[in-house]
Amino acid sequence: MEQPAAKPWTGIALAILACAALAIMGEKPWFALAILLIWIGSLWLKFDEPPSMETASGEAGLTRDTMAELIEHSGTPLLLTRRDRVTIANRAARDVLGPHILGQDVRIALRHPEAIALAEHDEPASATVYNLARRRDVWLVSRKPFNGDYAVIDLTDQSAGANVGRAHTDFVANASHELRTPLASIIGYVETLIDEPGDESLRARFHQTILREAKRLQQLVDDLLSLSRVEAGEHDLPSEHIDLAPLVLLAARDAAGPARADRIDFALEDATIQGDVPQLEQAVRNVVDNALKYGADDGRVRISLTSEGEAAELTVADQGDGIAPDHLPHLTRRFYRVDPGRSRASGGTGLGLALVKHIVERHRGRLDIASEHGAGTTVTIRLPIARGDNSASHDTVTQL
Ligand code: ADP
Repeated sequence: MEQPAAKPWTGIALAILACAALAIMGEKPWFALAILLIWIGSLWLKFDEPPSMETASGEAGLTRDTMAELIEHSGTPLLLTRRDRVTIANRAARDVLGPHILGQDVRIALRHPEAIALAEHDEPASATVYNLARRRDVWLVSRKPFNGDYAVIDLTDQSAGANVGRAHTDFVANASHELRTPLASIIGYVETLIDEPGDESLRARFHQTILREAKRLQQLVDDLLSLSRVEAGEHDLPSEHIDLAPLVLLAARDAAGPARADRIDFALEDATIQGDVPQLEQAVRNVVDNALKYGADDGRVRISLTSEGEAAELTVADQGDGIAPDHLPHLTRRFYRVDPGRSRASGGTGLGLALVKHIVERHRGRLDIASEHGAGTTVTIRLPIARGDNSASHDTVTQL
């Protein structure tokens, strides 16, 4: 890198020349020319030219404009400062910090004490800065000084990682709460049984409650394990070719059990997809169980499977109260429930739809939930048809 002093010295020389001309000639045209020269000289002096860079072969160096052009389209916000004043800011930096930062003192541009403190260092240094551009964003700001007056500052967005960390913390807190509730209940009933055993019928009632809460705990642990297993394998597309129609029939029958089986109508076409059998069965069970649980008492649930073009489409429609529109975007969040009391009373863990979403994503499919308040809910799962399979045949309408 060359020293940046060449152009300011040219300016000073021009200014001196102009003064000399003014002193010697004392004539008006010369006076005007001298003023012009002084002005040009002052411009050169003011101009913050960053150091030019020579190539290894000593060919043409980089001017400020070339440097600005080079970094303009980088996705990383980049600043070049001279004496802590911003002389170059690429588009990404202007987007994050605002277009006004050009020419501004970098300490004002970055605003945050942690970032401001970086200007004190003679060595490369970095700092983590929160809420720089938006609420709850996280940036790593790195500053590398060079050639005395100059420094390059780059900003790395770490918000995504921080969000994952926050989601993880929330999840642990929610899961602990969900586990603690049935545990507290079990401990309470067992202690009561030990202290005051009561009569036979009271003991039997307590045993029933303990059993129910223990099963809830078991279901919760099973769902948590399933969720972590699906997440762990989310990037591997299952390779097994499977016929979806018999799988749907079996899983739905399983979810319904003998008591609710006669509420379901089936209309299933053949469709072959690449899938993971236990996971797809679980997804069908969860959606069908919800339709039966939250659908109208004794209301019908219609399950249809169609195969058209590239996708197999499974829909499960109930005639329940439906879901208000503001809840719809959150239903696949872990432990999200519209009516927590109703969910818990029916043995729900709040993880059913989160699991369905992850299973569908692992199969490169799509999950949609449509609901009209008061008119029922339709859950649609679209899955890609296995390559080389074009089978779309007869309709079967089955009532269990
Ligand atoms: P849960 O174990 O509570 O059933 P899910 O993740 O399966 O958990 O569902 C989340 C919430 O979405 C449920 O608590 C319920 O409020 C709502 N929900 C799911 N399916 C339906 C449906 N078919 N009709 C009405 N509400 C539903």
